[in-house]
Amino acid sequence: MSNSKTLQVNGRSYPWMKQAVVVVCVDGCEQEYINQAIQAGVTPFLKKLAAQGTVLTGDCVVPSFTNPNNLSIVTGAPPSVHGICGNYFLDREANQEVMMNDAKYLRAGTLFEAFSNAGAKVAVITAKDKLRSLLGHKMRGGICFSAEKADQATLEQNGVENLLELVGMPLPSVYSAELSEFVFAAGVKLLETQRPDIMYLSTTDYIQHKFAPGTPGANAFYAMMDHYLTQLDALGAVIGLTADHGMNAKTDSAGTPNVIYLQDVLDAKAGNGKTRVILPITDPYVVHHGALGSYATVYLNEGADLASVTRQISAIPGIELVLTRSEAAARFELPEDRIGDLVVVSERLTVIGTSASRHDLSELKLPLRSHGGISEQRVPLMFNRRLGAIPSDHRLRNFDVFFLAMNAAA
Ligand SMILES: [Zn+2]
Repeated sequence: MSNSKTLQVNGRSYPWMKQAVVVVCVDGCEQEYINQAIQAGVTPFLKKLAAQGTVLTGDCVVPSFTNPNNLSIVTGAPPSVHGICGNYFLDREANQEVMMNDAKYLRAGTLFEAFSNAGAKVAVITAKDKLRSLLGHKMRGGICFSAEKADQATLEQNGVENLLELVGMPLPSVYSAELSEFVFAAGVKLLETQRPDIMYLSTTDYIQHKFAPGTPGANAFYAMMDHYLTQLDALGAVIGLTADHGMNAKTDSAGTPNVIYLQDVLDAKAGNGKTRVILPITDPYVVHHGALGSYATVYLNEGADLASVTRQISAIPGIELVLTRSEAAARFELPEDRIGDLVVVSERLTVIGTSASRHDLSELKLPLRSHGGISEQRVPLMFNRRLGAIPSDHRLRNFDVFFLAMNAAA
């Protein structure tokens, strides 16, 4: 393999890696989780990155949701390029809410597609299966599986088999910290046994939805992670760590969720059926957030007036921002054809729902923590290598992580 080779992916130039590059996307990793875990003395590896590596902060993509950001990280580009701007959008012709989990909605190639086709050995491990087909789209060979379905992985479909034996863990529950631990443990085993050139490890935010930074439940998770990162580091990998989005409490001081039921408000003010509120956070795994996040998009039906609906939404306490489709597409780099007439962002402590009757909060056993807004945009960018100077006018993004890690490796 030529070491001077570079690859063009979505308009950026990536150098061929000289050492294994491992990028970790820690789902829902508000920076304060790492800060508190370091203060508590439970993450010695993360602590030493400040002195021996590089610690930066970057912005994630808004909506600060899992899929748009994972796709940005693996394409090195915003949603306006790759097309994935949530879990759901409204197909206006079919008048149906459509899931964007299918790779047919992907409009850009991934780094994994480009590097695997150029001969690199790529390994992609996700916690939840919902991301696997998007991340592994058009990858040639290599390894791609989810911890959720690790027991079903085959050599033919996933490039690896007998995973439970290899990793030495039982199949984890989809709602557990072990689902993320399995990702890390498998990453260490694969780096040891198969030495991929590029590895992507993407966890789940089960713990971050439950536990605030610095709490025992959160610190235990970061201590676990630190243990595996130490091993990846010892195996000689260049490690880049970032998050898909942050996480905040979304309650009052008694722990009651601050929810704006936007469809109910608009039905009352603009008229029944005049608007349709879509929550792109909605996914098949809603137990830990009740499908409530700080971002919504609103489609106007016939007879609804854009200016008055905008005013009505802006007047609701807890709303941070209401943008028209074109304003939102420009500011957040979103695909115009997959967002509504309006994009609505709520404040840090507030989430947006559709109608009260459509959200089952009985499964929320702990005070709601969630994401989706601008308030969850700042995320860590940490490396176990020193990076060269970054131009002061460059706005750092979580989707710079592969570019920075590969340049550190060169
Ligand atoms: Zn996430």
